[in-house]
Amino acid sequence: MNSLADKTASELSELYKKNSCTQKEILDSLTQAIHSKDGKLNAYVKFEQTRPIHRKPPATKARHQNIGGQASADGDLRSPLWGVPIAIKDNICVEGQEASCASKILQNYIAPYNATVIEKLLDAGAVIFGRTNMDEFAFGSSCETSFYGPAKNPWDLARVPGGSSGGSAASVASRTAIAALGSDTGGSIRQPAALCGIVGLKPTYGRVSRYGLIAFASSLDQIGPMTRDVRDSALLLNVIAGYDPKDSTSADVPVPDYTSFLGQSIKGMKIGMPKEYFKEGLSKEVGEAIKSAVKKLEGLGAVVSEVSLPHTEHAVNVYYIVAPSEASSNLARFDGVRFGYRNKSAQTLKEMYEKSRGDGFGAEAKRRIILGTFALSSGYYDAYYLKAMKVRTKIKSDFDEAFKKVDVLLTPTAPSPAFKIGEKTEDPLQMYLSDIYTISANLAGVPAISIPCGFSKNNLPIGLQFLAKPFDEGTLFKVSHAFEQATEFHKQKPEEPSS
Ligand code: GLN
Repeated sequence: MNSLADKTASELSELYKKNSCTQKEILDSLTQAIHSKDGKLNAYVKFEQTRPIHRKPPATKARHQNIGGQASADGDLRSPLWGVPIAIKDNICVEGQEASCASKILQNYIAPYNATVIEKLLDAGAVIFGRTNMDEFAFGSSCETSFYGPAKNPWDLARVPGGSSGGSAASVASRTAIAALGSDTGGSIRQPAALCGIVGLKPTYGRVSRYGLIAFASSLDQIGPMTRDVRDSALLLNVIAGYDPKDSTSADVPVPDYTSFLGQSIKGMKIGMPKEYFKEGLSKEVGEAIKSAVKKLEGLGAVVSEVSLPHTEHAVNVYYIVAPSEASSNLARFDGVRFGYRNKSAQTLKEMYEKSRGDGFGAEAKRRIILGTFALSSGYYDAYYLKAMKVRTKIKSDFDEAFKKVDVLLTPTAPSPAFKIGEKTEDPLQMYLSDIYTISANLAGVPAISIPCGFSKNNLPIGLQFLAKPFDEGTLFKVSHAFEQATEFHKQKPEEPSS
């Protein structure tokens, strides 16, 4: 029999309904799985010091009524996430817990409040369970820039799990988490989801509150679910989506019940494949997996055609101006005074700033700060930042045009399956190209999902990405669920890491 740690959120909900397990049994099963596997995976950060948080103890028979309904603020035993442990990326604030962004500079920084997504999960009865490893401040595509050392890919411990939400992806894939939250600025949910064989959703910009997410690039960041299947992704988005007056970029757009899109036919759905995504740089194995996925979708009645997103070739360049510019400004607050680490040997205020930042930030964070400060400095601002913003608008219009013709776009998520630890660390440009297919969605603000669609000959997972119009996550769930139901990829799991 599979252990409880093997279950999805929706399966756990069914077990609760039948009274076939208790919350303690679930937490024990996960803790046991973490004790046996995480020494090798390094997916969690300071697990032993992080206590699970749950707002209401299991109480009444009310839990047996109305399960499957929407979460409500009182507690709530009706929520499908009731009692479900959710692992949280280390850049999302949970009151009373360290939120370090896997950086030395935020060591011992204890968050004084809950992010809105955490409040919403607690209101829905979920258990906040453990903090996951990540690239420092979410700068990276491999989890190798973490102060805690790299997380490993559960399918092959010599390889990266992707990044920056690598710990979230590795824990969900390895059955040491039921589901997790990640954040995605240029692909950090989708790329690790693809590399670890799970489902990762970046919602529309503004769909999920960023309040309490430690900012990387505020115009690009979104929090989203990382899960073993599409149903769990919909269940989690149901809970975390919605307007938040505490986030000025949060959108006041009604949240549908995303589970209502599951199980719908995709007959006649128009799927566009942007021709710019299928050029050099795409590995043969990923290309072939995508090709067979397209056949499968056509078999389900979808109509697949070629479309064009002509400004795609500029996306990486634009992103590496915009994202570091915003990052350099967001990171200015870490000065050794208010948060986390301070160098104690400094003699003057200026020296204290310099030494605290010099010791506290890792190499990639420093690279981003320098890049961003340069692009924003007077004399260069127009040539770099302003120009990048103009091209960003063009990238957004490409999507608007494409969505006049098709319902959804299909692309690879990452150019290759998981690469070896250390393979790209010496060459930042190679690393930046890992996000070539994911970055545009953030620049344009559109929602995108990565789902498993195959395996390489080395048995490494491959992901495909769907993108939709703003606030049309429903269509992403519809097409992803239809594909998932017709395939078995999401059911594969990695073997136990051997010693
Ligand atoms: N890998 C990209 C970067 O390093 C995206 C990171 C992210 O989405 N947080 O910027």
